[in-house]
Amino acid sequence: MRATASPMTPIVTPIVTRFAPSPTGLLHIGHAYSALFAEEAARKTADGRFLLRVEDIDASRCRPEFEAALYEDLHWLGLHWETPVRRQSDHMADYAAALETLRHTELLYPCFCTRKDLQREAAASVSAPHGPDGPVYPGTCRTLTAPERKSRIIGGAPYALRLDMAKAARTLKGPISFLDQARGRIAVAPLGCGDVVLARKDIRTSYHLAVVIDDARQGVTLVTRGEDLLHATHVHRVLQTLLKLPEPAYHHHALLRDANGKRFAKREAGVTLAALRADGATRADIRQMIGLA
Ligand code: GLU
Repeated sequence: MRATASPMTPIVTPIVTRFAPSPTGLLHIGHAYSALFAEEAARKTADGRFLLRVEDIDASRCRPEFEAALYEDLHWLGLHWETPVRRQSDHMADYAAALETLRHTELLYPCFCTRKDLQREAAASVSAPHGPDGPVYPGTCRTLTAPERKSRIIGGAPYALRLDMAKAARTLKGPISFLDQARGRIAVAPLGCGDVVLARKDIRTSYHLAVVIDDARQGVTLVTRGEDLLHATHVHRVLQTLLKLPEPAYHHHALLRDANGKRFAKREAGVTLAALRADGATRADIRQMIGLA
């Protein structure tokens, strides 16, 4: 891997990008944009590589038919990716190992709060700080004593593991940042998302943890994704630093919106690639619709 052009814009080559959908529904036109964006970013250089990753840690929401459909849609779009495709559900041991490393740092704590507890707390304190994912976790379980934690765990109470972000920020040696190709270098604000969950109650990992492990394992050097995930990059840089993983560059692209300015969602059947294709749209039509023609 070769590094760097100038201190402001470290370009790590070869450029390795990825598209990382979750098979929880059919891909829509917004996904087509993200996937083509990632592939084009890689193809700009002769030795660029484009990878596909299936983010299927949530077995209750992911379905094999959506996974099959996503391969079909992406092939139809004309995308080519390396095989084998990394499927997160095949790599739970990797996430467990990273969690274990973090557990040793004593930066994690068990959180017993239920969804109802979280809703109640958010409603009781409307002025509570809000992050991009909703109200920031108020830290209820952060202050539990060690014996309280132990007795609840022994009693069989289900618990998630959260990262104590303030504590984590104190252990980082100096400020950290990331390069966003569209925005320049951005200083990480670790506290913006609060104490994020790194292991869910039902799955012993989480989106944040799995993504940083996968990007490192797959050698991704340029993470391209929608700007709706810009906040997550602050969390990911903290995790990469704690886990001593390489720092990729980022490009958070604008989200594709409909004529009313609303972003496309998986539940809108009309804009799925499958529906557009059934209506007779061609690959070229899709590229035109998303402004990549
Ligand atoms: N799986 C995520 C999604 O479908 C994308 C994750 C990422 O690009 O980091 O929104």
